[in-house]
Amino acid sequence: MKVKKIIIAFITIFLLHNFTCFTSGCAEKKEDKQVKNDSAEQKLNNSKMDSTINKFTDLEKDAFKLHYDAIVIDTHNDILMPVMLNGADITRETKSTQSDLVKWKKGGLDVQIFSIYIPEKIKSDDFNYAIKLIDYLDKLQSEYPDELYMAKNYKELIKRINDGKFCGLMGAEGGNIIEGSMDNLETIYSRGVKYLGLTWNTSNAIGVSAKDETQRGKKGGLTEFGIEVVKKMNELGMMIDVSHLGETAFWDVVNTSKDPIIASHSCVYTLSPLYRNLKDDQIKAIAESGGIICVNFYSRFLDPNANTRQINAIHKKYKSALKPLEEKYGDDLIGFNEERYQYLTENYTDRGVPIDVLIDHIDYIVKLVGIDYVGLGSDFDGGISTPNELYDATCYPVITKKLVERGYSEQDIRKILGLNFLRVFKRVCG
Ligand SMILES: [Zn+2]
Repeated sequence: MKVKKIIIAFITIFLLHNFTCFTSGCAEKKEDKQVKNDSAEQKLNNSKMDSTINKFTDLEKDAFKLHYDAIVIDTHNDILMPVMLNGADITRETKSTQSDLVKWKKGGLDVQIFSIYIPEKIKSDDFNYAIKLIDYLDKLQSEYPDELYMAKNYKELIKRINDGKFCGLMGAEGGNIIEGSMDNLETIYSRGVKYLGLTWNTSNAIGVSAKDETQRGKKGGLTEFGIEVVKKMNELGMMIDVSHLGETAFWDVVNTSKDPIIASHSCVYTLSPLYRNLKDDQIKAIAESGGIICVNFYSRFLDPNANTRQINAIHKKYKSALKPLEEKYGDDLIGFNEERYQYLTENYTDRGVPIDVLIDHIDYIVKLVGIDYVGLGSDFDGGISTPNELYDATCYPVITKKLVERGYSEQDIRKILGLNFLRVFKRVCG
């Protein structure tokens, strides 16, 4: 009898421990242990995985140190569009794009999810075009192995982050890519695509989009095929992305999916009532699923009154004032960020869309459902204008500084910047 009691007590402790792991991020700490014996440098990086640490006693002073110490993940970027359509070069810093490998490094980004998206101009032979994009990323990795690693799963991703590598993942945008074929879904999955946005702005064989439902009066949610796609994605371990999806189809996903749901690049409807921003009950449903809402940087989604011309003029002014500072500080990114932030503060304007509006959207989600369900999904290079202070992908540290000013703790900031997404990624994709 006594032995039985001891066994039950042991099992209870074991189960409780694992439950706490899910909510506190100690699953990541387990990964720490595995690689602890590696190099000293890796030991330093391992701390990035720990959401419970508080390394910095004075966040006001050390906001930028925290930013470069934390894991920073962006769940949506459209750089492949200018690359494929205009021949943009991702390997060097270019004026024509908001992001590239150099800007990501300066911005302290650790993981970028590349959007596999078929531009409007193309919109034929979608599946083959998607394969072309995947091939491009594979080729990029083999040509620039020091600059980019395309991770295939959670374990690989963690290992490479710990090695200090910049990592890429892939997410498909628009169910049109699979052209109504489950085989095509399995093929993009086997090629490493980790999420599928069920629709873009146009509806497809899977379901009705937010734009069609609200602006074109199209009725319907997920189709029968769409329901099967959701079930198949659960089975494969692929994240279901509801950014762009119609509200009826959204609830069909909620009622069908057994796994956490993500919104890879979406904003808050209550703050900015636009067709594809998420209403409160949608945000709550995503949180209840254990998923994540990654906030889009598009100024017009953040603020329906955004004036793109004003923003462009502000960006022009900021960039020309700040470029010489980048050269002055070189590799001293902390020094550069401190002086850049001082400039941005002294030259603050409430015209355009100040970055505070983006922080308001993050804040709103946190207050509604808690700290564990929000992240960053910039949509850089998707033809968008971004808030004043986020003029390109070197500017992620400004977000961290603003979160510090709003009173977020170090642990909470680490969650928003990357650990929340890692939790979902590990749980769904493994
Ligand atoms: Zn999009």
